[in-house]
Amino acid sequence: MMIKTRFAPSPTGLLHIGGIRTALFSWLYARHNNGKFVLRIEDTDRERSTDEAVQVILDGMEWLGLTHDEGPFYQTQRFDRYREVIQQLLESGNAYHCTCSKERVEQIRNQAMTNGKKPRYDGHCRSLNIDDSNTVIRFKNPIDGQVVVDDKVQGKVIFENSELDDLIIARSDGTPTYNLTVVVDDMDMEITDVIRGDDHLNNTPRQINILKALSAQIPNYAHIPMILGPDGKKLSKRDGAASILQYEDEGYMPEAVLNYLVRLGWSKGDQEIFSISEMVAEFDIKDVNKSASSLNPEKLIWLNQHYLKNADNRLLVLSLTEIFKKMDLTIEDGPELEALIDVQKHRTETLKDMAEQSVLFYQDFDEYAENAAKKHLRPVILEPLKALHDALKAIQDWNNANIKTAIEETAEKFEIKMGKLGQPLRVAVTGTGISPNIDDTLRLLGQEKSLFRLRKGIDFIENRSKS
Ligand code: GLU
Repeated sequence: MMIKTRFAPSPTGLLHIGGIRTALFSWLYARHNNGKFVLRIEDTDRERSTDEAVQVILDGMEWLGLTHDEGPFYQTQRFDRYREVIQQLLESGNAYHCTCSKERVEQIRNQAMTNGKKPRYDGHCRSLNIDDSNTVIRFKNPIDGQVVVDDKVQGKVIFENSELDDLIIARSDGTPTYNLTVVVDDMDMEITDVIRGDDHLNNTPRQINILKALSAQIPNYAHIPMILGPDGKKLSKRDGAASILQYEDEGYMPEAVLNYLVRLGWSKGDQEIFSISEMVAEFDIKDVNKSASSLNPEKLIWLNQHYLKNADNRLLVLSLTEIFKKMDLTIEDGPELEALIDVQKHRTETLKDMAEQSVLFYQDFDEYAENAAKKHLRPVILEPLKALHDALKAIQDWNNANIKTAIEETAEKFEIKMGKLGQPLRVAVTGTGISPNIDDTLRLLGQEKSLFRLRKGIDFIENRSKS
C-alpha cells in the first residue's frame, strides 16, 4: 500500500521549530517509503487563524525544502463535506442532537469531579431522538470496550470507552469541531500514517471511534514528544518558539536546521551529520525516542558552521546577496562575493554573521574601536607603518604572497615581530582588532582602499601625538 502522511498545522500561531520537526518526521517517513506527503492547513478556528501564520507555514516549508505532493488543502474550504459526513453520522445513528444547556453540562462535570470521577457528559440526549438543527451534535461514543492505539512511538496505549465523552462534532451554528474535521480529512485524503505531537494522543481514541463509525480505514499513529527549551522547560519564544523563518533571517542554512531537527528525538548510532538524502535513506519513525528532547543552540551553530564550510560558494552568493540587500550594502563597493565567501565561510557561524563581519570591505568605518586604537595605533609604530605603506603601494600584483612579503620585509627592516606590525595594520584598515588573516583582509579590501585607510591610520597617529 502507498504510504501517505500529512502535516496539518493550525495557523493560530506562527509555525515554530517544534512544529517543523513534526513536519520533517512526516515528510521523511513519506519520502523514505516512496510515499506521498500532504499539506493541510487546519484553519477552522477563524478567530485565531491569521493569514500571516498561513504564509509562515508555506514559506517555512519551502525554505526547508519540505515539498508536498498534495495540497495545501484548507479546511475552511471543506465545510460542505464536513456537513455531509455529520449528516451521515446522524442518519446511521452514530450521532445525535443535544439540547443540554451549557449550565447543565457544567453542573454534571463539576459533580463528577467532586466525586473524584473524570468530568464527562452523561449522555442525557443520547436516545431522545431530538430533531432540532439549532443544537450541538454529539458523536455517540461506544459505551464499553476499549480502544487500543498501537502507537509507533509510544507503544501500545489503551483507552477505556467508558472514560470517553460523547464529544461535540458540530456546534449549534453547524460548524464542525476539530476531531470531526481531522477524521474526515484523514479519511478522504487516504492518510495511512498520522505523525503528530503527543499532545494529540488523547484525541486519538475519539478519532478512531469516529473513523470506525464511518467504516473508514484506521491509519497508523505515531505521537512524537514535544521539544523542550535548552533548560528542559517548555519552549519559549526566545528559544525557538517564534517563527521558523527567524532562523532564515538569522542566516542559518536549511540543511543545518534539518540536520539539527532530525537529531532531536531520532538517532542512528552516534552519527551527527546527516545530509538530506541520508536522512531519507535512514529514517524510520519507529526509531524516534519516546522522551522529550531539549534544544541545544550550540549544536545548531556547530552544524551550521559545518554546512557553511562545505557549501557550494555559488549558492552562498545567492543567500548573501539577499542579506546584503537587506543591510543596504552595495556589492560593487567591495570584493566579489565568491572571493569573500571563500575566506569568511571558514571563520563565521551563520550567513548573517558572515555579512556583518564583512561590512568593513564594503563601507568605510567612521571611528576606530577605542581599545584597539589605544593599544595599536601608537607613535612607536608610525615609521614602520609609513614604510609599509610604501611597500604596499609598490606592489604590482595585489595578491596574498606579495602582501605577505611586504609586511614581512618591513617588519624585518624595523626588527619587530610580524604581529607587532600586522595588528596595527589591521586596526588601521578595518577599524577593529578582528578580521580575517591580514593577507586576506588586504587582498579582499583591494590595494586602493587598503592604502587609503592605512594613510588615514598614519594621519590619526600623527594627529594624536601632536595633541
Ligand atoms: N491542527 C493540529 C495542530 O496544529 C494538528 C492536528 C493533527 O495533526 O491531527 O495541533
